[in-house]
Amino acid sequence: MNSVHCALMFTIADHLEIRNDHLIIGNVDTISLAEEFETPLYVTNESRVIKNFSAYREAFPEADIYYAAKANGSFAILRILARQGAGADVFSYGELYMALLAGIPREKILFNGNSKTNFELEKAVELSVKVSVDSLDELHTLSNLAHEAGKNVEIAFRVNPDVSPKTHPKISTGLRSSKFGIPSDEVVSAYNEAAGLPGITPAGIHCHIGSQILETTSFNEAAHKMMDLVEKVTKIGIDLKFVDMGSGLGIPYTKDEGHAPTPKDHAKAIVPVFKEKTKELGISPKLILEPGRYIVADTTILLTRVNTMKKASKNFVGVDAGFNLLVRPTMYDSYHYAVVANKAASFAQETYTIVGPICETGDIFAKDRLLPHIEKGDIIALLDAGAYGFSMSSQYNGRPRCAEVLVNDGKADIIRTREDIQDLMGRQVLPSRLM
Ligand SMILES: *Cc1c(COP(=O)(O)O)cnc(C)c1O
Repeated sequence: MNSVHCALMFTIADHLEIRNDHLIIGNVDTISLAEEFETPLYVTNESRVIKNFSAYREAFPEADIYYAAKANGSFAILRILARQGAGADVFSYGELYMALLAGIPREKILFNGNSKTNFELEKAVELSVKVSVDSLDELHTLSNLAHEAGKNVEIAFRVNPDVSPKTHPKISTGLRSSKFGIPSDEVVSAYNEAAGLPGITPAGIHCHIGSQILETTSFNEAAHKMMDLVEKVTKIGIDLKFVDMGSGLGIPYTKDEGHAPTPKDHAKAIVPVFKEKTKELGISPKLILEPGRYIVADTTILLTRVNTMKKASKNFVGVDAGFNLLVRPTMYDSYHYAVVANKAASFAQETYTIVGPICETGDIFAKDRLLPHIEKGDIIALLDAGAYGFSMSSQYNGRPRCAEVLVNDGKADIIRTREDIQDLMGRQVLPSRLM
């Protein structure tokens, strides 16, 4: 075994293996998957989803874990997590509908969002789920809707704790300047106002400081700020039943970011602060966490076939997936490990830049990577594609979305069929004068 091989063995997640030079996921050969289901293809390993969820549940044994559905809203994944006892953080009526249909109980759902429609608020009232309220304006709308329906809604305020985690600016959500939440210094008066409104029960408090965070000090800082607010809110007579600390734990995409914090490290940054303050105040709210990325990111690979090779300013590899299927590298400058899935243990000898087929300069998956010799027809696996991958996909450039497969210990099942041209025409209608 050469050193490059060792490096690869070390860097891929432990639910991936290499056998006969092929990349294996969930005991299934990725090359057979590419042949059977065609490419591009998202492949998710069920046991890895369960393992990641269990890691959170074990790190926070007394908390409820609400999976952030936006990270990967595929129905099979929601179903797997529902069976594991997950709750859900939903950000739209669509996510709410699917979470309920997947079997997540309404008592374990929080409806988030900074700009909900009246229809969405009506649905939250009708379906009796908790609502995270992002503004006083929304509070009044919700109060009116609940009152008219003769119902009572449990709410939390989304608090902007003003912490600044080290992450990409597009996914930092708890800065003072962010669009999310109510500024810390207006929180107490917001609870006062909520307490006097019909149809509203102020029952919780909520924050979420960002995503892909790989240090725990900002979680700790946010926990302190949140628990100070819990104290203030409790002292004006609000009976808090839950404290939702959001999420944001990242995963080590580049594999060289040193020790990436685990759910246990996340818990160490939050739980003692939570316990100390609740004990001091003599209250016993439920702690809630809302991990998305950590649960699904490393469970899934995107398989894509090499269409064409070109030596120009760089050594370009043109593949059949584009940023319409995985937008993270284009949108967040993010790194995804690339493996030549049919030459997974071969000697890495050339530097390649892997690009998609879309008519945009930014359609690049991987820049200047040292990989085994690549030829037309090879299959490339982009790793850690389970979070904000398919869920952010589009049909841009007239490209039907790809299929998704779920593997589990040697078995592979389709969980989303490939779109076709009919799906592109979809709901388009020609006015009669254009017939
Ligand atoms: C996106 C989001 C999450 C999940 O964040 P991850 O970084 O994927 O863990 C949790 N809570 C809220 C409110 C969110 O918007």
